[in-house]
Amino acid sequence: MSNKYKNIKNRIFYLRKKLNLWSDYYYNKNQSLVEDSVYDFNLLKLSKLEHKYPFLRSQDSPTQAIGQDCNVKLLQIQHKSLMLSLDSISNNTELFKFNKKIQKILNTGEEITYCCELKIDGLAINLTYEYGILVRASTRGNGVFGEDVTKNALMMQTIPYNLKTNDTACKYIEIRGEVFINKSKFFKLNEVAKLNNKKLFSNPRNAASGSLRQINPKITENRYLMFYAYGIGYSDGYKLPDSQYKRLKILKLWNIPTNHYTKICVGLHQIVNYYNTIKKIRKTLDFEIDGIVIKVDSILHQNKIGCVAKAPKWAIAYKFPALEKITKIISVDFTIGRTGIVTPIAQIKPVCFLGTIVKFVSLYNFNEINRLNVMINDTVIVKHVGEVIPKISKVIFSKRTKNAKKIIFPKKCKICDSDIISIVGKKKWYCSGGITCHAQKKAALIHFASRNALNIRGMGKKIISKLVDKKILITPADFFRLDLKKITRINKIQLKSGKNLINSIKNSKEVKLHRLIYGLGIPQVGLTTSINLENYYKTYYNFINSDFHSLLKIKDIGQSTAVCIRKFLENKNNISFIQDLLQLNLKIK
Ligand code: NAD
Repeated sequence: MSNKYKNIKNRIFYLRKKLNLWSDYYYNKNQSLVEDSVYDFNLLKLSKLEHKYPFLRSQDSPTQAIGQDCNVKLLQIQHKSLMLSLDSISNNTELFKFNKKIQKILNTGEEITYCCELKIDGLAINLTYEYGILVRASTRGNGVFGEDVTKNALMMQTIPYNLKTNDTACKYIEIRGEVFINKSKFFKLNEVAKLNNKKLFSNPRNAASGSLRQINPKITENRYLMFYAYGIGYSDGYKLPDSQYKRLKILKLWNIPTNHYTKICVGLHQIVNYYNTIKKIRKTLDFEIDGIVIKVDSILHQNKIGCVAKAPKWAIAYKFPALEKITKIISVDFTIGRTGIVTPIAQIKPVCFLGTIVKFVSLYNFNEINRLNVMINDTVIVKHVGEVIPKISKVIFSKRTKNAKKIIFPKKCKICDSDIISIVGKKKWYCSGGITCHAQKKAALIHFASRNALNIRGMGKKIISKLVDKKILITPADFFRLDLKKITRINKIQLKSGKNLINSIKNSKEVKLHRLIYGLGIPQVGLTTSINLENYYKTYYNFINSDFHSLLKIKDIGQSTAVCIRKFLENKNNISFIQDLLQLNLKIK
């Protein structure tokens, strides 16, 4: 074998070993060593290599396997008919191809009738009923043998012990479906695990799998697992309709839970509508789904179409766009917020989530950088969970190169050169420049004029922003230097509105101490703390002369808040702009 092929062979062996290890943890230990996207990415890589070099293919490759072999601690059960996986697609072009293939096999140009279902993210179970009584339950395992989870299934309230049918001819039936855990129950389960210092489940699928495949069925009972049937395997003595949809309806009549979102769709147009509808309502469901499953409805046609080694050819999973993407950190910048909070923002190689291009993600704070152990040039997984903005969930350390550069938190604010300070026990870092820092200026002036502060009615974000851009507003004192001419010229607002604004400014000249303190935007000093400060110090002069120890005597003020207040008051620029306000006749009540 030439060196080239030796290298490819090694690469293939390495990928198989890695994928087998991840699968072992995923299927047998209910743990994800890597995100699904990483697993799928590597499986695809392996599949491409095996396709290109067919002489290196192997029957025991993860590309050929369904799930994993059984947990040795649980007994094995052989399924009467194979339990297959599903092939998947991720766009309409692939859907079009799938439909075309079905039409070709069925030798028809007519619209195909499909049964469309939710693809619930749990684990497959095979329930065997003999004469209407549940006698066995097993997991999918490797598709041929599954693990015996009968005792566990009997503990699940959602799985009926008897089928609601009195037909004595009904000897034997395998009912297949998905066991899963509701999102709300999953969060509670992890909360309890956290309290008891136990390992947390990384997602509801792993939680469901770990809860069902228990040696002690009592544990399964307390996990409130759910079940929805999605099909029938081998049966004997049953007269079943020639339709997947109608079979599910019958299961429902027998008291077997089925999902009510199942729908008959004729042709591609109806499937696409169904897919879009389910994608929209996905977040309202209390269980995880990762797509829809499209099945040829006629069982006769299903049998004609047949299966490949791993999956039926008559069904396909149309998966939702991955909510995880692999990308690279290009650089990290630090932005300064209103209260001076320094937030590290990573520029990433752009990725697309649900049609939106994401180029930047927040790294939140220094602790998060440490927790992730992330560096510039690292390959990372960006995750989009629900409505939350995308965030980095993991670094792929195996892809870290020599180019990886440590992220250094700045010591000085890049805008105003003030010290960046960290607060003891807090995750956050601040620019100590306060309102004099240009980056904080706009946001701080908006805060100063806001309802709970000086309450300058009508002085909104837009107006302030324009006045700052024109350098008319630099410090809060400049609000009181505004006149009608300046306001109407810059903002092109009506004379009447301009006059109202000038009146508002005048009215805000008498201000309670706590409103002024709140308006200063001192880090960690919210409205309640401002009121407590007013109650303690009574006057502005007492407040600006406050020392660290007296601050600590005030209700709700701890070390970190006291540091923030002192740092703010020690900054001469801050004091001088307050003096400026007083010279412009600001009256503190
Ligand atoms: P799959 O989960 O993508 O699809 C097949 C399964 O879908 C069926 O076995 C069944 O349990 C389920 N299903 C849900 N609703 C259904 C319905 N209405 N009709 C029919 N079936 C329905 O395939 P798979 O082979 O079980 O697992 C592959 C997935 O597991 C991939 O997404 C992969 O990323 C993930 N995985 C991850 C890791 C990891 O380490 N993170 C390891 C191995 C596998």
